[in-house]
Amino acid sequence: MKLERTFSIIKPDAVAAGRIGAILASIQEAEFKILGLRLTRLSEAQARGFYAVHSQKPFFEGLVKFMTEGPIVVMALEREDAVARLREVMGATNPANAAEGTIRKRFATNIERNAIHGSDAPETAAAELAFFFTTADLI
Ligand code: ATP
Ligand code: MG
Repeated sequence: MKLERTFSIIKPDAVAAGRIGAILASIQEAEFKILGLRLTRLSEAQARGFYAVHSQKPFFEGLVKFMTEGPIVVMALEREDAVARLREVMGATNPANAAEGTIRKRFATNIERNAIHGSDAPETAAAELAFFFTTADLI
């Protein structure tokens, strides 16, 4: 199978809780190669742009507030079937429904404060990677 890239964010709740190391360990145990990695912060405009697909949802304003409340870690990741495999390692959006051992089961607080983002398709991964990394950034 062909190598694929995906994009991930360690969200502000998990960074504040000191979970960067544990989440990176899970990702590396799942045999992802880290092509890019940066501690940063989203402006309100960036958060609105990044989650624009959800702009009409009732949870949108809360999501923007959450994603801008503190530092995040943005990551460019590569492995076979990367998009689907990362979603497996993350677990379900709502940690109450997440499988044992997944990042969200272990570290999420609730459906909003859920520790990690992962792209949902190869096309969105390409757009999200370009949102945060230039080609020259990626090893
Ligand atoms: P992400 O896109 O962050 O990887 P996801 O693809 O599992 O998460 P989406 O449906 O894309 O889930 O929702 C984006 C994010 O919006 C969720 O991860 C969560 O932080 C927040 N969210 C989703 N649904 C709700 C909800 N019902 N109430 C509050 N926040 C929500
Ligand atoms: Mg999503």
